[in-house]
Amino acid sequence: MASQTGIVTDLFRQQFGVPPEGIERAPGRVNLIGEHTDYTLGFVLPIAIQLAAYAAWRRTTSGYLRVYSTSFGQQRAWPAGELAGLTSAHEWSDYVAGVAVELERAGYSVPSMDVLIHSTVPTGAGLSSSAALEISIALALLGGRVIDPVALARLARAAENDFAGMPCGIMDQFVCVFGQENAAIQIDCRSLEHEPVPLPQDAAIFAVNTMVKHELGQSAYRERVRECGEALAALGTRYPEVHSLRDATSEMVEECRAAMPANVYLRALHVTGENRRVIEFVEASRAGDLQRMGHLFYASHASLAGSYEVSCEELDFLVEEARSTSGIYGARMTGGGFGGCTVNLARPDSAEAAGARLAARYRQRYGRDPRIYTCRPSNGARNVFREQSPAAGTIKSSQSE
Ligand code: ADP
Ligand code: MG
Repeated sequence: MASQTGIVTDLFRQQFGVPPEGIERAPGRVNLIGEHTDYTLGFVLPIAIQLAAYAAWRRTTSGYLRVYSTSFGQQRAWPAGELAGLTSAHEWSDYVAGVAVELERAGYSVPSMDVLIHSTVPTGAGLSSSAALEISIALALLGGRVIDPVALARLARAAENDFAGMPCGIMDQFVCVFGQENAAIQIDCRSLEHEPVPLPQDAAIFAVNTMVKHELGQSAYRERVRECGEALAALGTRYPEVHSLRDATSEMVEECRAAMPANVYLRALHVTGENRRVIEFVEASRAGDLQRMGHLFYASHASLAGSYEVSCEELDFLVEEARSTSGIYGARMTGGGFGGCTVNLARPDSAEAAGARLAARYRQRYGRDPRIYTCRPSNGARNVFREQSPAAGTIKSSQSE
């Protein structure tokens, strides 16, 4: 099978008539646990996965930044000198334009360039195609210039927050940059301290895509961010040391229950419980306790469905089916919710059969095929191809004369 780099090189040549100068790879991710906790500065435990966005690029003299997405079969172009002033177009290109704006703001002038984006991360499925796109684009527009990795994650998040209008936390962009082979990454979303967490050898992870994305998703996400702010205000009155929901405990939330509307109380209860589950899951993973890890997956899902109210019928169905599927330790929705994927923790020798059973049950129930992705922890974003630089080429040819 041709390598992704080869495929992307061919696609770039078809689109722009010349080979690319460089190719940047940025992975998608699956979050193992710690859902809807990053924007309140809590704990998360994602893995970067082998599905990834590839941004192939070449500097040009056209005076334009031209970007083509193979997913959409569309090209957009902006005068390179006017990138700092771009505004949202309310479509996919916002993720590109937003990154260009943020790079300009950070002092990295974006040159005239052709870029082709080719991604194997399904869009809108909770595997973070958006962060993969942002980070691969940022590296392409930098064209080999060095950037601090934390600054890179921060500016990609800013692009998504300010330009695409999603008030997401830092998790997706951070793990996209800092992912590691063979480990999940525990991130403290306040200090940005992060640590690789080894997963037990006898654990397989796979995601099952419901292939649905309910409309409610974006507005409900904003609503949850707002509700968390409301919970914090109520808690802060009684506990001045609580500066974000991450500082609160479930006991504090119970204490302040009367000071919050019922929905706000439930949201806070999810966040405090979920932060605790991340810590417990890390302990269980280090101890190789797969039963406990699976139990925490189910507990996380129950909280996301019952208290945070971001699940949907299709996700609940897949999680319930997982319970009666042999070889699965645990399952939960992953990502923002209202559709997208479940993540499953399974025995490696039964993962394939377990996935096939879930797929068959889902097909029977909803009349459509879910997609299954085996998820292997993989490395964070990096350059995967670089043409010999023109300067080096010049020196070589002058020497050979
Ligand atoms: P997720 O990040 O879970 O996949 P989001 O809703 O956050 O879902 O981001 C999906 C959006 O990101 C898409 O609707 C599209 O606008 C943009 N996007 C992702 N991948 C690509 C791509 N390869 N080409 C163009 N736009 C993309
Ligand atoms: Mg996203």
